[in-house]
Amino acid sequence: PSGISVQDVSHTYGARGAGTLALDGINIDIEDGEFHCLLGPSGCGKSTLLYLIGGFIPVQSGQISTATGRVTAPGPDRSIVFQNFALFPWKTVRDNVLYGLKKAGFGPAERAERAQRYIDMVHLTGFENAYPSQLSGGMQQRAAIARTLAVDPGILLMDEPFGALDAQTRRVMQEELRAIWRNSRKTVVFVTHDVQEAVFLADRISIMSARPGRVQHVIDVNMPKDRD
Ligand code: ADP
Ligand code: ADP
Repeated sequence: PSGISVQDVSHTYGARGAGTLALDGINIDIEDGEFHCLLGPSGCGKSTLLYLIGGFIPVQSGQISTATGRVTAPGPDRSIVFQNFALFPWKTVRDNVLYGLKKAGFGPAERAERAQRYIDMVHLTGFENAYPSQLSGGMQQRAAIARTLAVDPGILLMDEPFGALDAQTRRVMQEELRAIWRNSRKTVVFVTHDVQEAVFLADRISIMSARPGRVQHVIDVNMPKDRD
């Protein structure tokens, strides 16, 4: 995996001067292999910061770097899971996972092997040929996580991935994600507005204030978890 350095990042939507200041001077250092949560109320700029780290929107002010250098565009070292799953509805679970692998440049044999391995990892064995609409919300999000993990990004970005799930399914998915993280040791940046979720998942939490987004506190979650 790779650490992430966010230095003095600000972001304005719309015309500068007249636009919306979404982020105001963000500084965060995320360690290699850390599970980091961005926690704050709706509209405080969590998604904006996540998309900037992903390279999906250009950095206007300040600097973001990973082990591969300065972030200026999406890269194979970073991969994202969205709240709304973003699966192709016309593709089966297997084809959704294969698509991501193809786009990432894996050859046919390795694509097939990886697709099955990650479908198994998220407990969707037997549902390879199912279409998203045939699956529960939790299962769809597992498929989306398999698609994202299969390309083996060093950095996993997650934008309220469990926000659309019922409370019980969310708890199961949180436990599964933590187990996957424990085994894969990826750097995770996980966006949530749910305090309990952040405390359960994170090693460290950046608490962001309401708009414009600023990091108010960075807290270590000193609970005895599953770190060795
Ligand atoms: P969060 O993820 O914490 O809910 P966002 O990063 O989505 O916050 O949004 C931060 C602020 O930027 C909000 O005020 C939001 O309305 C605004 N914003 C987000 N995306 C856009 C956009 N594409 N155009 C204009 N304003 C936006
Ligand atoms: P999740 O916790 O993943 O949202 P549910 O609680 O909806 O799943 O379902 C629990 C189990 O029921 C699933 O793990 C799966 O084995 C089975 N299941 C759910 N939906 C379907 C479906 N559309 N077809 C077959 N089995 C299903």
